[in-house]
Amino acid sequence: MTVTQDRPMTYSKMRGLVSFFSALLKGKKGHLTDFFHKLVISQHLYQHLDTQKILQRQRKLRKEKDAKSTVSSANTETSQMKPSDFDYLKVIGRGSFGKVLLAKHKKQGGYYAVKVLQKQMIVKRKEQRHVMVERNVLMKGLQHPFLVGLHFSFQTSNMLYFVLDYVNGGELFYHLQREGSFPEPRSAFYAAEMAMALGYLHSLDIVYRDLKPENILLDSGGHVMLTDFGLCKEGVAIGGIMHTFCGTPEYLAPEVLQGHPYSPTVDWWGLGAVLFEMLFGLPPFYNRIKAKMFENILHAPLQLHEGVSQAACSLLEGLLERDVSKRLGGSFDLVELQEHPFFASINWDDLLARKVTSPFIPKVTGPCDISHIDPEFTMQPVPASVNERCQVGGVSEAFPGFSFMNPVEYMATQIS
Ligand code: ATP
Ligand code: CA
Repeated sequence: MTVTQDRPMTYSKMRGLVSFFSALLKGKKGHLTDFFHKLVISQHLYQHLDTQKILQRQRKLRKEKDAKSTVSSANTETSQMKPSDFDYLKVIGRGSFGKVLLAKHKKQGGYYAVKVLQKQMIVKRKEQRHVMVERNVLMKGLQHPFLVGLHFSFQTSNMLYFVLDYVNGGELFYHLQREGSFPEPRSAFYAAEMAMALGYLHSLDIVYRDLKPENILLDSGGHVMLTDFGLCKEGVAIGGIMHTFCGTPEYLAPEVLQGHPYSPTVDWWGLGAVLFEMLFGLPPFYNRIKAKMFENILHAPLQLHEGVSQAACSLLEGLLERDVSKRLGGSFDLVELQEHPFFASINWDDLLARKVTSPFIPKVTGPCDISHIDPEFTMQPVPASVNERCQVGGVSEAFPGFSFMNPVEYMATQIS
């Protein structure tokens, strides 16, 4: 995730500046133009009545969730988390800088997904500044029904730890791979939930930037949960991406691939790419040869196959529009998507309140069920290094102030 916007509020301005200077430090040329461009767009956004209404609703929801989490976190009893507070049960994922593990809190018994990052790798790739900037932003109250919640972060001399909600319905694309493609109503449901999460992030001036299959999880109720706390992706640094990119380009907007300044509309392109894959079983512009796929994303005409509705085709064309000024969502963000006929059957209020039953409920037996996680991960042994002993004193200067306890949970520990 990346922060690029600004709006007329002191805190947001500060965020924008932090982002801007961090971008400068990372050599993000053109960010300034983008920054002012976004400033203008966000003015429009906030003047738009429907958007105002949605944001109000989302704020209300956040408050309600805050109140709930005060209760649920009342049992949290330590403010100094350490690796040995957890039993590490299984490997459940792999990230750019380390692994994600299913872990059980020894005293409280709760299950979490613990993302463990190797400092050495982050420092080697010179990403520590970005890690810290993103972390600081994301700690400040990101709460949404379709975003994975972060509980704590802490560090040892070699590792950084993020303690997240464990989302156990499996990656969306784990299910897609098994089924080939999804029917339109199911695709619309997932796309709508993703759109709400992305619209919420945009309302906080955050651009997710690389919406991609591995970051889209399903919870036990079959609802979408976006994960990933914006650690800088390998090779996705702005500028020169064409030369350094080693990851998968399938879902990246052309302007990101070209290293041009980007705006929240990159996320609507990403959503288009993911929706395309849900409907047709392969990403748009797909080619086994990466260089050709780059080329296709930048220049090839969008090929829509048969078997989907006119509304689906029109939405895909709107989202996968190379010209950012014409892309759906370019002016009024989420609202533009919500008004599209493809989503005509979606009741957005009910969706946000999680009142809409998912068309697919993963069969999970309990909070630590791993049956929907790819065996490629769960078969791996838990690395002994995650239980690193050295806690205090050895903390690398590269990550001062990294350790965090969700303020609500922290307050609860002080009271209990
Ligand atoms: P990359 O940079 O390569 O995208 P990353 O370092 O950002 O990876 P994540 O995407 O956050 O790492 O996590 C890697 C994988 O771990 C995810 O694709 C997902 O399968 C799994 N995972 C992450 N968070 C959770 C969670 N909260 N619950 C269950 N599984 C998770
Ligand atoms: Ca990821």
